[in-house]
Amino acid sequence: MAQTNSSPPSDFIREIIEEHLLTKRFKGRVATRFPPEPNGYLHIGHAKSVCLNFGIAAQYRGTCNLRMDDTDPTGESQEYVDSIIRDVKWLGFDWEDRLYFASDYYEQLYQYAVQLIKKGKAYVCSLSADEIRDYRGTLTEPGMESPYRNRSVEENLDLFERMRAGEFEDGAHVLRAKIDMASPNVTMRDPIIYRIKKEAHYRTGDQWYIYPMYDFAHCLSDSIERITHSICTLEFENNRPLYDWFLDELKVENHPQQIEFARLNLSYTVLSKRRLIELVEKGYVTGWDDPRMPTLAGMRRRGYTPEAIRNFCERIGVAKNESLIEMALLEHCVREDLNKKAPRVMAVLHPLRVVIDNYPGGQAEELDCPYHPQNPGMGSRKVPFSQTLYIEQEDFMENPPKKFYRLAIGKEVRLRYGYFIKCVSVIKDSNTGEVVEAHCIYDPETRSGFAPDGRKVDATIHWVSADHSLPSEVRLYDRLFNVPNPLEGGSDFTKYLNSNSLEILKSCHVEPSLKDTAPGSRFQFERLGYFCTDPVDSSNKALVFNRTITLRDTWAKISEKEKR
Ligand code: ATP
Ligand code: MG
Repeated sequence: MAQTNSSPPSDFIREIIEEHLLTKRFKGRVATRFPPEPNGYLHIGHAKSVCLNFGIAAQYRGTCNLRMDDTDPTGESQEYVDSIIRDVKWLGFDWEDRLYFASDYYEQLYQYAVQLIKKGKAYVCSLSADEIRDYRGTLTEPGMESPYRNRSVEENLDLFERMRAGEFEDGAHVLRAKIDMASPNVTMRDPIIYRIKKEAHYRTGDQWYIYPMYDFAHCLSDSIERITHSICTLEFENNRPLYDWFLDELKVENHPQQIEFARLNLSYTVLSKRRLIELVEKGYVTGWDDPRMPTLAGMRRRGYTPEAIRNFCERIGVAKNESLIEMALLEHCVREDLNKKAPRVMAVLHPLRVVIDNYPGGQAEELDCPYHPQNPGMGSRKVPFSQTLYIEQEDFMENPPKKFYRLAIGKEVRLRYGYFIKCVSVIKDSNTGEVVEAHCIYDPETRSGFAPDGRKVDATIHWVSADHSLPSEVRLYDRLFNVPNPLEGGSDFTKYLNSNSLEILKSCHVEPSLKDTAPGSRFQFERLGYFCTDPVDSSNKALVFNRTITLRDTWAKISEKEKR
């Protein structure tokens, strides 16, 4: 079981559970579940729920089940089941042998529905969907009873059985709970329990022509699994009386307590499967695992660590009021974790050739470079140095302003873990006038990074040896949206997509130690940010790196500027 911290912070849900433990409400048992519907990939909002449910189970020595809440054939698939399993495991949680499927309960749920009919608590209604909506009333007006509400038990049983047998088309009938059309809680106005859907299900095939509604299936699945605390998001608060009604009417043995918490909303992205599906299907991103997606698959491919995500979920905590959490907080957690873990290496993204005029051509030497300045335990590697190097274009200026401290004609800088070099002349493209090569001389006495005469340089820049470095593609990812809340205002959220969320650089060079880097390996490219080897497209023949995150929060600066 994943453990992020020695003492998890308390919150209102844990307080409720501790109260139940004291009063022996569930005989001291704690059993939770994480119940995704396999109709999309998990996103960071789901991670909050995963961490909460599995975290509580671990803390109170209980259990947490993974249950596929697969009661609607539309949009569900095995691909999604597989992705959910992969992502919850990756986050670091273990459901042992408790992987369940609501679709395995279909027969049991059907029998529960029959029981309700027999009790006179459910009836087959033959109003159309539009009529049912019209009859439901509004928040301020009571609903009207369906003309089919008083069908006899026998007629209801007969019709329901024939619904199951596939005798009727979609929408011809539904099974409804008989509760109260005048209830101030609209959810309680004879809610639908079963509908006809002549659609194959990815697990049960064409065995069923009717499928249970969420409110009916969910509470009973919880009860069947002997869940004690059914933790869900706030939008189900109005459904809690219905959750309890089904369990009370059916006199089940296990009656879990539903507890609602505020879902995670995160700035500069969207956390709704419907919207994420739209991004995938309309090709705004390359897939569910596009590194710009707020999905766990996307974040993994981007280079985020499970530890950073768990730490983020712990920091945001759980509360009962909706809020928008800053993306910057998630990014901070990622930086914090990678700062500790990521080995430092050198890569040049926008190369400028540098020729060391006083270094012998054809010669090379190896400089010892530590992987982590604060952590000698991470060891070091040899980085070849030779006459021709690449440095970052922006580390050189032909006509530098006063405060430019990096390389310029007549200026001396330190090469990271290597010599001092001083620029003496440049070669320009005869057509464009652009500097294509900087000629420098090096000081052989400065290999240690310091000059024996004590002279200082203003800057240390990163570099790679031109002949030894490996050509690479680097993908610079940025936030997917350019406004904090793309859903605000209700207009089409895709118009806020950040057109600069991906920049592909094809002529980058990385140091040779990255030759056989394993897919998903994470690094800090010195002075540039955190990067990972793309797990899908990178190979030792064609290296591809994804930028996980910049070293500092550049967005904070942008929004500061906007405020001014
Ligand atoms: P969406 O509303 O995006 O379609 P969903 O809630 O229908 O998502 P489910 O597969 O039903 O998706 O979610 C599984 C569990 O994850 C549920 O218990 C749900 O409450 C929880 N969950 C979903 N989104 C969030 C979120 N943004 N923050 C916290 N928990 C969430
Ligand atoms: Mg749901």
